[in-house]
Amino acid sequence: MSESLKVKNMVQNRHLSKSIMDASWSELIRQLKYKCSWKNKRFYQVDTYYPSSQICSRCGYKESRVKDLSVRVWECPNCTNMNNRDLNASINIMFEGVKIYMERELAELQVN
Ligand SMILES: [Zn+2]
Repeated sequence: MSESLKVKNMVQNRHLSKSIMDASWSELIRQLKYKCSWKNKRFYQVDTYYPSSQICSRCGYKESRVKDLSVRVWECPNCTNMNNRDLNASINIMFEGVKIYMERELAELQVN
């Protein structure tokens, strides 16, 4: 408990917070890779710049005004689907992950 409290205080310091959060994220990724390897599962990361929040998960339309983080819900001008920012992003990340998986599996099949 004391360790997490110290980290919480350190994260509030602007100078330390970025490196601490980067380190925590790196550790999470390291553990996920390790666990996947241990369970004989594949691990893929979606590109950092993939616009998961801006793409309508129903029709694929890209809405750039959603870059504004205060926009939590938006209506797709193409298909009128109401997109919850986080849910929509998670659906897009899932599909992007499946796409990466399929591309790599296909590439592996072509090699063998
Ligand atoms: Zn749409």
